[in-house]
Amino acid sequence: MQGLMMDRPLLISSILEHAAQNHANTTMVSQTADLGVHRTTYAELGQRSAQLAHALQSMFNIGIGDRIGTLAWNDHRHFELYYAISGIGAICHTINPRLFPEQIAYIINHAKDAYLFIDPMFVPLVEQLAPQLETVRGVVVLSDEAHMPDSTLANLHCYESLLEGQPTTIEWPTFDETTASSLCYTSGTTGNPRGVLYHHRSTVLHSLALMMPNALGLMPSDIELPVVPMFHANAWGLVYACPMAGLPMVMPGPKLDGASLVEQFEREGVTHSAGVPTIWLGLLNYLRESGKKLTTLRRVAIGGAAPPQSMIEAFEDQGVEVVHAWGMTEMSPLGTASPLDARAAAQPVAERRRLQIKQGRCVWGVEMKIVDDQGQSLPHDGEASGLVMVRGPWIASGYFRDDEATAEAIQDGWLATGDVATIDADGYMEITDRAKDVIKSGGEWISSIALENAAVAHPDVAEAAVIAKPHPRWVERPLLVVVKHAQAEVGGDQILAFLEGKVAKWGLPDDVVFVDELPHTATGKIAKVRLREQLQDYQLPGA
Ligand code: AMP
Repeated sequence: MQGLMMDRPLLISSILEHAAQNHANTTMVSQTADLGVHRTTYAELGQRSAQLAHALQSMFNIGIGDRIGTLAWNDHRHFELYYAISGIGAICHTINPRLFPEQIAYIINHAKDAYLFIDPMFVPLVEQLAPQLETVRGVVVLSDEAHMPDSTLANLHCYESLLEGQPTTIEWPTFDETTASSLCYTSGTTGNPRGVLYHHRSTVLHSLALMMPNALGLMPSDIELPVVPMFHANAWGLVYACPMAGLPMVMPGPKLDGASLVEQFEREGVTHSAGVPTIWLGLLNYLRESGKKLTTLRRVAIGGAAPPQSMIEAFEDQGVEVVHAWGMTEMSPLGTASPLDARAAAQPVAERRRLQIKQGRCVWGVEMKIVDDQGQSLPHDGEASGLVMVRGPWIASGYFRDDEATAEAIQDGWLATGDVATIDADGYMEITDRAKDVIKSGGEWISSIALENAAVAHPDVAEAAVIAKPHPRWVERPLLVVVKHAQAEVGGDQILAFLEGKVAKWGLPDDVVFVDELPHTATGKIAKVRLREQLQDYQLPGA
């Protein structure tokens, strides 16, 4: 027997309509190149998204399934693109401008983008790529006429002129909720980037899950500043969750350094934010050096890489609670989160920290298991560690136009994440490594993440990375690579002495190397592949 409930498709356009109608005067503040600090409302965003949708249909002939690429920072125009493109059944393809130009050209051609919408600062990049682009019919610069850059690009348009004169209302079309809505490429360590193709249903369900108290726990009184870029897994879903919850948003544009973030947090009274550890490192260093305080921020979500304990403590010293979260582009991206429940909050500080360092429990909707090399499930005892497999309604079932990558990642309906972790009896998952970064020493596995976290707790260490180095007896041994704080005098022996007792003795690094900076990936993680290349001639003492 069927239930008697209405069958309304879960479409992204419903989020915008909801915000425009029920939170009409709620604001979005953006940092833009042409307008400086720009203020708008959900009502106006709804109208301008309608204008953009009309322009896409009538001027560019865009319809269901067409791909539109964006190279843009977080601001109100990028928001309008998200909603207008998916609202008419086309696909918003967010491109990470920090990737190498050859990768960007590959991605645009692989996605077969029909148009590109780009921030003015990316015009030179697109000019450079133009001869290689096979499907792009035109480029729109996210600017008004007065600030349009000079360019050699053919078929160049101005965003504000495109919108001018278009109707400010639209009847958003209805279609199947599994229609593709957005596309985001993620870089593997080998091979070409892989496309993750989200649909309307997955996006709406993920947005609901993201807000839950045991996930990011957004509250009606929150003012959000998504530090995580809109080209990194849809700003972790915040671009949808905030209008769904009717929250004001502060969009930082390209201004992501510590000083600019603190200025924006304080000016706009931001209470909640989300980003990767690298960004927070910049912010915390700035606070340390300037002696400034965060007076309005209440909570931050940290994910994308493991935050060291010292980062969680530094935020708590500022009165900011940390919610540690884990996920991946393929998971929309949220998988687990680690907010303190009543039982955890009542624990002594050391115990509490142990839990906060863990990546956390699955949010509802995500199923998870860990498996051994033969694919056999391992116990959830906090000891056994294995490859993390996940499935759920906002997890990719394959990669866009890439059967080989799909066959590699999808096993019996589960996605192999490439992360190695333990899960304890309470469901807390703790990542010990990426499968390819783990150090295999004499048959034992050494966690590079555990060593990095321990090293960063040293007051003179700004950033740390651990890589495996070949060893004649143990096969591999860990090498610790450290960036010191400015003016710090610390030596390798002192850092090794500091680590003693914090990790198992056999897991201590064999040596410490100091560098001026560590290489980072386009999404702000430590680029271990590049680091290994940089240190390929280095030999461990005695090796
Ligand atoms: P991306 O798709 O670029 O977001 O990368 C996803 C990968 O980032 C995951 O598979 C993990 O290896 C890593 N990652 C994400 N969040 C965390 C976290 N909280 N702790 C450790 N690694 C993380």
